[in-house]
Amino acid sequence: MIPRETYGALNSDLTPEQTAAVLEGIRDAGLISFLQRKPLGTLEFVEKLNTGDFLLDLWLSGFTVFPDDLDYPYMAVGKVTRVPADARALTLENAGKLEVFSLPESPERYMKGVFVHELGHHVLFEGGPQLEPQVRGWFARGRPITGYAATVWDEYFCESLAAYTYAPEVLRAYDAVGYRMIETVLGGLS
Ligand SMILES: [Zn+2]
Repeated sequence: MIPRETYGALNSDLTPEQTAAVLEGIRDAGLISFLQRKPLGTLEFVEKLNTGDFLLDLWLSGFTVFPDDLDYPYMAVGKVTRVPADARALTLENAGKLEVFSLPESPERYMKGVFVHELGHHVLFEGGPQLEPQVRGWFARGRPITGYAATVWDEYFCESLAAYTYAPEVLRAYDAVGYRMIETVLGGLS
């Protein structure tokens, strides 16, 4: 079980077993002790995302609300009953070509992959103000592991965190900068 003090309110439309399986992303990413010190706020694993933007809700698989918004810290992962047909596991052959990182083996694994990506946003918010310029520097020199990672520095970090957690050998071989970034940032948290 993931220690209860790593998050605030938990609102889940999943079964208790599924909820526990998705929460394991915290352990997989090596973030238990960090979250005990800097806990998540409200956490939702819900049928319907509610970003306030209808089109975004359809498109996103999860989101984290930014700190200047009212309800921060707030994180949501959409409930999935079937893994999207285009989801593919990251391999050395498709590195850099997939749209987003995902764990396609089961709905719970898929949600856990999204959750670990979102945990990356929390690390960036709570890890200290020095992180943004550092990550921007790595982003400028790195080789983004997915299409989404190539869009902006913070998504570069979150996609790299998911890849580091679940396909570390692929990340290390394809984007050594991103691999070292995650090692450095996680090492600096504990
Ligand atoms: Zn993101």
